[in-house]
Amino acid sequence: MLTSGARPLESRVGIRLLPPRIAAKIAAGEVIIRPSSVVKELLENSLDAGAKRVETCIERGGKALVRVSDNGEGIARDELQLAVQRFATSKLADAGDLERIQSYGFRGEALASMAEVSELVIESQRPDAESGVLLKINAGKITGRKEIVRTPGTTVSVRNLFFNLPARRAFLRSEAYERRLVLEKVRDYALIEPSVRFEVSNPSGTILAFPPTRSWIERVQEVLPELKNVELIEFKETHRLLSIEGFMARPDQAVQLRRRQKIFFNSRPVLYRSIYRAVMEGFGPQPGNLVPFFILKLTAPPQMLDANIHPTKIEVRYRDERFLFDFLSQAIRKAVHKEAVKTLKFPAYPSSLRTDEKIERQIPIPASPPSTPPSSMPKTPVSTPHLETKGYPETHTGFWQLQNLYILAQTYSGLIIVDQHAAHERILYEEMLERLGSSPRQRLLFPLIVDLSAEEFATFEEIAGDLKDLGFEAKVFGPNQLIVETLPADAKMGPGELRQLFREFAETNEVKLGNRDKMAALIACKAAIKAGSSLSQAEMESLINRLFRCKTPFFCPHGRPTVIKFTMDDLAKRFGRI
Ligand code: ADP
Ligand code: MG
Repeated sequence: MLTSGARPLESRVGIRLLPPRIAAKIAAGEVIIRPSSVVKELLENSLDAGAKRVETCIERGGKALVRVSDNGEGIARDELQLAVQRFATSKLADAGDLERIQSYGFRGEALASMAEVSELVIESQRPDAESGVLLKINAGKITGRKEIVRTPGTTVSVRNLFFNLPARRAFLRSEAYERRLVLEKVRDYALIEPSVRFEVSNPSGTILAFPPTRSWIERVQEVLPELKNVELIEFKETHRLLSIEGFMARPDQAVQLRRRQKIFFNSRPVLYRSIYRAVMEGFGPQPGNLVPFFILKLTAPPQMLDANIHPTKIEVRYRDERFLFDFLSQAIRKAVHKEAVKTLKFPAYPSSLRTDEKIERQIPIPASPPSTPPSSMPKTPVSTPHLETKGYPETHTGFWQLQNLYILAQTYSGLIIVDQHAAHERILYEEMLERLGSSPRQRLLFPLIVDLSAEEFATFEEIAGDLKDLGFEAKVFGPNQLIVETLPADAKMGPGELRQLFREFAETNEVKLGNRDKMAALIACKAAIKAGSSLSQAEMESLINRLFRCKTPFFCPHGRPTVIKFTMDDLAKRFGRI
């Protein structure tokens, strides 16, 4: 039997009709909508029966035939007829015993529903029996029964789904489409049951075959082969009321893997909006609304999860959603930061930075804003970058600047290349938004006067308050003229950049609507170190350290990558060493 589900079950007691009281509680509604729903119900029954091998055969996308064969515990000869009756289940719900293992099924309506709307044949033999029984049902009526001898297990064939309900049949989509949904279903269960062999075939041969694997990740990579070359971050967190385990693509690899998320709750593949949102929250903002790949298994004590809110159990509800959200988003955030730390293990560091603890401490979880004293007063705001210059001698070779554009650094696992402008943009952006209203700023000793067009000036008047919160304070100086008194800390802007910035403010609708994220992104872009600026060792080090203190270090606010990583493995592959 299986570990899943929301309802407790007794040990196998034979198939019984549910008492009406319980039957009435079960979410009403059709469970069979299309061939993939047939596949889902049959796979779940096979898994509930402890099958280690489940073969699915489809014809015409499942519209002509869905057949699932398993080597599970089978159904006793005298119970087969009961199995296809509504509310007949061997997985009887018993509210008293919550510690028992769980099953996928508990409503006893799937076989009955399928039998009503198809030509169904079910045959089964128990491992300890010499023979089994085959039952034919046509649109709900038993049309044949005979003794058979077969290998232990169960085979259910569902032919011509909805042949007796033309309106429902017409609702089915193309064969290719239905087939895709069927395959997706099999993949879902293959993902959650790595020890079970799954196969899918059609009349022209095998389409999918997943041999049993020892570890979960092996199965994940078999089922989703596009992940083979993707670096995955593993996360795992355990709590009495909720355990989670999963993998996600590094945020910087999200691009290739959009629309690939899998959530399993107590072994059920589910759609669960707030889980999805919690994961995204943990990842931090993603550029261009990209959704990174993740696969997530959640396990909770059965009494914490209600699986009976939706006819096909595709939606479930955890009893403490606030806890679920916080627990999950924090676990993900922690894993992402750990990965950022790993990316940044520098072997050739001077002693002050050599230990992992040191680096660990530099990337607090959750990230707190780096302390830049508001009183820092550079002589002029357009001076060369005034990143911290304390540290080690310029001759230190920990970092290397390529064409005054990229910073190269050695890490334990290989090499990272950082885009200096994009990285600084990310840093400025987060620092501005981190502590709105009190975000670090630099007061200019020689305030800058900027002339604006009438429209730019009008925009400024609308957003002056927001700009001030971001560390950007300016006052009206004359007609269409401003005097800029403070800039966000570490912003590198002269009158030219300021004029450009106000032009962009005036041209950007989101800014005019008061979107501070957008304002911060535009400021960061104008205020970041330019491509072409030469940086000292200390400046490079400071930049990289601050980058990896960011919540979303891997992207600039526009969504371009800030860091590219080459692992030793990548290099070995490129050089044909492996
Ligand atoms: P449920 O799964 O909710 O119990 P179903 O209508 O899907 O309801 O199945 C009814 C019963 O038939 C199950 O409780 C189980 O005892 C039996 N059964 C169905 N499919 C199988 C199978 N593949 N192997 C063993 N028993 C099965
Ligand atoms: Mg079932």
